Amino acid sequence: MPITSFTPPVRTLMGPGPSDMHPRVLAALSKPIVGHLDPAFIGMMDEMKALLQFAYQTKNIMTMPVSAPGSAGMECCFANLVEPGDTVIVCKNGVFGTRMLENVERCGGKAVVVEDEWGSPASPNKVEDALKANPDAKIVAFVHAETATGARSDAKNLTQLAHAHDALVIVDAVTSLGGIEVDVDGWEIDAIYSGSQKCLSCTPGLSPVSFGPRAQEKITSRKTKVQSWFLDQTLVMGYWGTGGGKRTYHHTAPINALYALHESLVLLEEEGLENAWKRHALNHQALKAGLEAMGLELPVDPAHRLPQLNVVKIPEGIDDGAVRTALLNEYSLEIGAGLGAGAGKVWRIGLMGHASSKKNVLLCLTALDSVLTRLGAPIKSSVGAQAALAVYR
Ligand SMILES: *Cc1c(COP(=O)(O)O)cnc(C)c1O
Repeated sequence: MPITSFTPPVRTLMGPGPSDMHPRVLAALSKPIVGHLDPAFIGMMDEMKALLQFAYQTKNIMTMPVSAPGSAGMECCFANLVEPGDTVIVCKNGVFGTRMLENVERCGGKAVVVEDEWGSPASPNKVEDALKANPDAKIVAFVHAETATGARSDAKNLTQLAHAHDALVIVDAVTSLGGIEVDVDGWEIDAIYSGSQKCLSCTPGLSPVSFGPRAQEKITSRKTKVQSWFLDQTLVMGYWGTGGGKRTYHHTAPINALYALHESLVLLEEEGLENAWKRHALNHQALKAGLEAMGLELPVDPAHRLPQLNVVKIPEGIDDGAVRTALLNEYSLEIGAGLGAGAGKVWRIGLMGHASSKKNVLLCLTALDSVLTRLGAPIKSSVGAQAALAVYR
């Protein structure tokens, strides 16, 4: 039998990313390819930079997508800003802080770890203590929306603290951008990265980054070369035209993926940032009302709970894998498993970007109700969807 074309199943994606893509974004992927220095493509790149400035709420010239996933955006920020010997304070309250730590060490930096419990935000008090104890700290790095735990850290406050001690910040906004407020200029964030497949609902594999004036200054005054040729922003800028002058080849851009990101950002612009945040908040409230009516528990403190990533406790005696397999097989619905410390104990229900909709909230509640009831879970049946609908009314 010859291998034939691959036909993926049609799923509803309510996990930690990727999220469902809008039909207009899918259509953008199939537009005709052009050369990566075609004048038409260069025009699109200029619009892309403006759209990303809009999404990030920044005037930063150094705002562009890295041609690789969120992890590469993270690596790009650390590789460009951390020089060997630099002290970097890293907030660790989930999976992604641990990766930041890896990045600091691999760049030859000296990491000072500020640890908080999973499900808690990065503690401003602990960060302040670390800044006082390490007056040579050059950077504070933290995750704005921790996808492993569903907790939001106070990006504005942490940035102010860092600046009060002459340190820059690197912020992970992979899950926050498009889902909750991210105000790069208002909060004076120095370096930030995101991902295309979470609340921007685009194809995975692109990571928008933005560097503010202090970060640009640190990059241009480096004593050592950035150890990664590919991620060296001073070289990439020549291709994205952020340094002025003629565009030169750096790497072949993922052309059609960039069409898709352009369309995702146009959709965000059409909706408006505030409206997108409001939609994420409303759908979260409806999902929460439904889950709680069923007797399920959301362990993250409401004060810093993320609307786009809902952590739910698995009821006593219920097998995590059996539920997720049934949801996938019977409803073609994907929800996320717990990660790290949460594995087997919690589910992570994403309401990200295009997947943050009333239709998905109701599907998820109805599907969970039927599967959990069949497996004999101690939940209240037939009340989840009604409780969610009451929120929408
Ligand atoms: C998904 C995610 C990443 C990594 O992004 P990839 O595109 O998977 O490389 C980094 N940080 C956070 C907070 C994420 O949720």
